[in-house]
Amino acid sequence: MGVDAEIFIKVKGELTQKDIQKQNYIFGCAFHQYTWHSKDEPALSLKIWNENYFNDMKEPGHTLIQVPTLGRYYGEGYERGPLMTYVAMAELLEHLFPNCTIFYFGDSGGCESRKEFHSVRRYELIEHFANWGHEPYERAFSGQHHKYICPNCNIGMIQNGFKGRLGYFSCSGCGWHVNEISATEKQEGFDIKW
Ligand SMILES: [Zn+2]
Repeated sequence: MGVDAEIFIKVKGELTQKDIQKQNYIFGCAFHQYTWHSKDEPALSLKIWNENYFNDMKEPGHTLIQVPTLGRYYGEGYERGPLMTYVAMAELLEHLFPNCTIFYFGDSGGCESRKEFHSVRRYELIEHFANWGHEPYERAFSGQHHKYICPNCNIGMIQNGFKGRLGYFSCSGCGWHVNEISATEKQEGFDIKW
């Protein structure tokens, strides 16, 4: 069970899905593959939010729009999801909906506070990412994270698990991996499948 990212925007005026057709198209041109689409629904990357929860973000005379993100949350204490994708989404949303309010938070795990995702907050999170990347999250799991050093990035590789072998290690920076096949044999190389 992971913490999923939630992005909502609050826009002045009472809008329908038809009113945001153009913005949905443009946003989809950039991020369609990063948003959730059910086969039973129209493939929308921006959805007018008519549900009866998340009401704390609603305001009379405004419309709440959901970006149905596919990824995990990234924040201080949960350094997991693709933060820079969310930052890029926010940049485009501000062009599509000038003066909108953007909210970014997690769906569980104590990350539910409806924080505004304005430029100052984005800067703070980018700074955090610049210092830590995904390190705190990935090294929180037990494993021998310094058994191998990545030859490209010169950093202790993360043990992701075993995959039926003795140990499986990878580098988040470049994708280098080490598979321990037996006590004396190992495979090394780039692996983009992990
Ligand atoms: Zn590396």
